[in-house]
Amino acid sequence: MAYQALYRVWRSQRFDDVVGQKAITQTLKNAIIQKKTSHAYLFTGPRGTGKTSAAKIFAKAINCKHSVDGEPCNECETCVAITEGRLNDVIEIDAASNNGVEEIRDIRDKAKYAPTQADYKVYIIDEVHMLSTGAFNALLKTLEEPPQNVIFILATTEPHKIPLTIISRTQRFDFKRISTQDIVDHLGYILKQINVEFDEQALYVIGRAAEGGMRDALSILDQTISFSDEKVTLTDAMQVTGSLTYEMMDQYISNCVSGDVEQALEVLESILSSGKEARRFLEDLLLYCRDVLMFQQAPNLLAEKVGNLTENFKELAKHTAAEKIYQMIQILSDTQNDIRFTNNANIYLEVATVKLAKSVKKPVEVSNETQSTPPEEIATLQQQIEHLRKELTELKKNGVTAKEAEPVKVTRATSSKNTLRIPTELVYKVLNQATKDHLLNVKNVWDDLLQMMSVTQRAMLKASEPVAASPNGLVIAFEYEIVCGRAMEDEEMQLAVHNNLSRLVNNYAPDMVCITKESWPKLRQSFISQNKETSGTGDPTNEDRSVNNEENHLLTEEEPVKEVNNQVVDEAIAMFGESLVEVIND
Ligand SMILES: [Zn+2]
Repeated sequence: MAYQALYRVWRSQRFDDVVGQKAITQTLKNAIIQKKTSHAYLFTGPRGTGKTSAAKIFAKAINCKHSVDGEPCNECETCVAITEGRLNDVIEIDAASNNGVEEIRDIRDKAKYAPTQADYKVYIIDEVHMLSTGAFNALLKTLEEPPQNVIFILATTEPHKIPLTIISRTQRFDFKRISTQDIVDHLGYILKQINVEFDEQALYVIGRAAEGGMRDALSILDQTISFSDEKVTLTDAMQVTGSLTYEMMDQYISNCVSGDVEQALEVLESILSSGKEARRFLEDLLLYCRDVLMFQQAPNLLAEKVGNLTENFKELAKHTAAEKIYQMIQILSDTQNDIRFTNNANIYLEVATVKLAKSVKKPVEVSNETQSTPPEEIATLQQQIEHLRKELTELKKNGVTAKEAEPVKVTRATSSKNTLRIPTELVYKVLNQATKDHLLNVKNVWDDLLQMMSVTQRAMLKASEPVAASPNGLVIAFEYEIVCGRAMEDEEMQLAVHNNLSRLVNNYAPDMVCITKESWPKLRQSFISQNKETSGTGDPTNEDRSVNNEENHLLTEEEPVKEVNNQVVDEAIAMFGESLVEVIND
């Protein structure tokens, strides 16, 4: 028999086998037991978390004549045929490849006919967010008048791309990332079944690398097995996943802790030149720091979990104050945020390394009390605090109470700037079909829209304005790059804009494209000149200029960013409280 990938062989065949989604599988089982199934389900969640497996199990359980407690028997002809994908009444569609309107029309026509072999016809549409607008409309028509004995299961990793009109007609289940422990347990179970020896720690390395997806975990395990001789070892798993050994991490972190910038940068360089990916390295560093904290609290528990702890690690954990580790975690997670939008992740890592080494050096000096802060530095700090105090008094005078005050923006100077990647193609795509009417529609309801958003979402959108709109897309320009960056990654906020707009403007649910105000004139200009060359069409946004300018003063009320020195950040936090101070890396 040809070799079959583990994830195929070990695909869950019963609800109880689906790892880490107990609440969902229990609900589905109950629905089947009580015969209270819905005609449309939406399964959302990261890849490899069991969405399509659960969909297939559901198709079996609802059609199996011998189902017990809502589980399929997996032995009868119906169950076997569904498992093997040859039952005509269970239709699996991959929207990533079948995204045409025709295919969905086909579903509409065929769905009308009663199932031939089973009790229920089940359509499983994977990656449903890939459907075109036309196909969504066709699907919507089917969901509006669901045929008898037909069930739709829509699966997606990107629910925010699905029109609200569809979502509202489905019963939604959010599959969550599977915990590392659950993955490790499952991998261990499989390895025992197939009689392969393993180091427990190797499974943790694989589990962490899989980032909550069982399919990825099984693929990595597959590779590791073929890589190792007889036994799956920690070293094998490290090699395959590209994880770092504890030794290399020890070296890097201890250089940072001792404030040896030069040495830390050297280790970093050798790590990166060995092919380590910056993002993965950051993640490993964060896990390492977390392990240090854990070791300080419960050494035995950690040893159990991770396995071999190096002597260096133990030494480091014993002699580094938890406070320092918290500082390091803060720097690392800030950096993690920063590198999401850049091609130059390595530079950010270098900056982070300098920050790590510097930041952890300071408390050491203070605690040793061998050096005191130079008088001139104290004078500067006093001046800065005085300045902030004046501003606070002014703010209070102007009637801003602490509760409703906008966050005070403090700029923390770093050596990087303008690193946000503007999604030019997406902007062009919107501009290609942009109309003045679409934009005016959005502008007319913009204030209402803001009212519908949560406080933080509103704060984010306050310094932004819609600058172009097409039937499917909306370009929003943000005053500040940092806010734009956050908006880009805030799927929840984008979904809220999408959904609320569809309520305010008759079913208009465009995808949001975030750009900076600074980049807008350039983007617009280059689009126009490109368009002139090819077709000669005018600028769809041209007529809206006056509107933009008129409203600018309304939409850009936000306080200007205040340039304040690094050292003042902590004082500012002390004065205004953590919640009121928003540190911006500029
Ligand atoms: Zn059966």
